[in-house]
Amino acid sequence: MKTLPTVGAVIIGGGWAGLLMAKELGLRTSLSIVVLERGAPRNPSDYANAMDELDYAIRMRMMQDLSQETVTLRHNASQRALPLRQHGSFQPGAGVGGSGEHWNALCPRFLPDCFELLSRTTEKYGAKTLPEDHSIRDWGVTYNELEPFYTRVDKLLGVSGKAGNLKGKLIDGGNVFEGPRSEEYPTPPTKVPYIAALFRDAAKSLGYHPFPAPSATLSQAYTNPDGISRGGCTYCGFCGRFGCMVGAKAQPTTLLLPIIQKRKNVVLRTGAWVRRILFDSAPKSTARGVTYVDATGEEVFQPASLLFLSSWTFNNTRLLLLSGIGESYDPSTGRGTVGNNPTHQIATNAATAFFDQPLNRFMGSGSAAMFISDFDGDVFDRGTLPFLRGGTFGARGYGFQPIANFGVVPRSVKPTWGSEWKKAAVDYYDRTAVIGFTGEHFAYKSNFMDLDPTYKDTLGDPLLRLTLDWRDNERRMADFARAMNAKEINPSAALRRSDSTRYQTTHVQGGTIMGNSPQHAVVNPYLQHWQLPNLFILGGSTFPQNASMNPTPTILALTYRTADAIIDRYLKNPGPLA
Ligand SMILES: Cc1cc2nc3c(=O)[nH]c(=O)nc-3n(C[C@H](O)[C@H](O)[C@H](O)COP(=O)(O)OP(=O)(O)OC[C@H]3O[C@@H](n4cnc5c(N)ncnc54)[C@H](O)[C@@H]3O)c2cc1C
Repeated sequence: MKTLPTVGAVIIGGGWAGLLMAKELGLRTSLSIVVLERGAPRNPSDYANAMDELDYAIRMRMMQDLSQETVTLRHNASQRALPLRQHGSFQPGAGVGGSGEHWNALCPRFLPDCFELLSRTTEKYGAKTLPEDHSIRDWGVTYNELEPFYTRVDKLLGVSGKAGNLKGKLIDGGNVFEGPRSEEYPTPPTKVPYIAALFRDAAKSLGYHPFPAPSATLSQAYTNPDGISRGGCTYCGFCGRFGCMVGAKAQPTTLLLPIIQKRKNVVLRTGAWVRRILFDSAPKSTARGVTYVDATGEEVFQPASLLFLSSWTFNNTRLLLLSGIGESYDPSTGRGTVGNNPTHQIATNAATAFFDQPLNRFMGSGSAAMFISDFDGDVFDRGTLPFLRGGTFGARGYGFQPIANFGVVPRSVKPTWGSEWKKAAVDYYDRTAVIGFTGEHFAYKSNFMDLDPTYKDTLGDPLLRLTLDWRDNERRMADFARAMNAKEINPSAALRRSDSTRYQTTHVQGGTIMGNSPQHAVVNPYLQHWQLPNLFILGGSTFPQNASMNPTPTILALTYRTADAIIDRYLKNPGPLA
């Protein structure tokens, strides 16, 4: 194995989290930094011809190669897990920028009580109302502590939106249920697609509080505090699963890479697949560096003083397990912390509606939408509803491409084949709209991740095994979402189980969670490993459970907070930050 000279910091994974940390440390310190990204190099100019549904959205050009490494999945511990050989319910990216290149750029903040879920829910409803098997936790950080960092994220990305709660003052037209924000969004909301406007007007007439989705795809030209300028969106409709053709969508390659590339103290190595984090337990507990396989297949040891694990939920968890760092969670005893609390999202169509008029739904952006949060978190009077928490309803005009979205017709169209069906499918292609719902997913003791005893990756290392299913709280929430049909046409099928074949979201969290105690958490509230203080873990793997909304602003806000703590305190006095 080749051993390289020691560097100040090594960052595993070059997505939003890893590259933001590289930018902050690169600009604000003199540390020598190496980012190890196992995928290919990428540049914004790569997307000039990216409007190709077959290549990008059906054949998944931007995603991780599942023939090299995948996860195995089962619903409960008595089953044998099987490997996912096709992209289904989640679509992790590979290559510089990670999934942040092909994301949809919806940029909401989490509701304040999400960060104190256990204590707030217990206080209000009593411990007995929580599901028996739950393992929900407080995060160890509050919304108010995170707010200044959320504001920095908004400015970094130039988020387009309208505040609904400015320093405690509620503002009609914004999300009046959000936590107080210290500043208005940097840019005004994006254009409202036709279907979203219909949803907004209907929701308003029913007394709800529709608001434009916060979007990191810009409504207008914007220059961020780092001096990076981008133009406004052209609403071409190629966002999620595509890199942005005009650079309006915030992506790590547009916002972070240009700065990193100018820094002499930051090096980005692509094709570098990290396999292990090496550490010493004595004389003191410290991470020493990483081993990786480079693009030529050679095994390399990269020693470093500081280590950042930012390779997304599954890979963060798996790398700790493969490296033997911490104790693997055992659901039968409740011992161990690595692999506990995986959560996903309840993402479902509340209704599919058919209209007489065309909706122009081929246009739009991944985050051009209207939402209501009137049934999110704990903001509403739940009366006798048989579940806790809730979610967000919305209508999005994200650009419905023809291959994936063709063939949805009202149930009354019979037969379901032949020329009459084909004619109906063409007629309804642009007259079909979806009301979507995304809801919270609780953490449970019997959902967990560990190393698969049977299946291995292309390098011979065990795959990550995911044991995950919904419980009654999630099933009832999904039933509630479907019962919202104001003018039901095609109700969605009842969703009883977590389904790996149907795309839901790539918002899978947990596995290396944060918290105030090493008894149940892998990292402290500064995302610092409880036992190895020079190892920091970034990304959704540190969320104790998921909120109903999209995670990336929270991932980035936590990354900023950690960067500040390292620069202001750790580098002056290395050791535990909490
Ligand atoms: C289709 C889609 C739409 C989305 N839309 C939204 C949205 O609208 N709003 C939102 O908030 N979020 C959205 N997300 C989620 C968002 O993309 C992620 O939250 C975000 O990209 C996570 O950033 P990350 O840096 O933690 O991980 P990633 O972006 O996954 O980056 C991790 C990187 O680590 C690399 N890596 C993995 N293992 C190794 C290893 N062993 N060695 C070296 N490198 C490794 C990977 O190749 C990858 O580049 C979406 C995701 C997808 C897939």
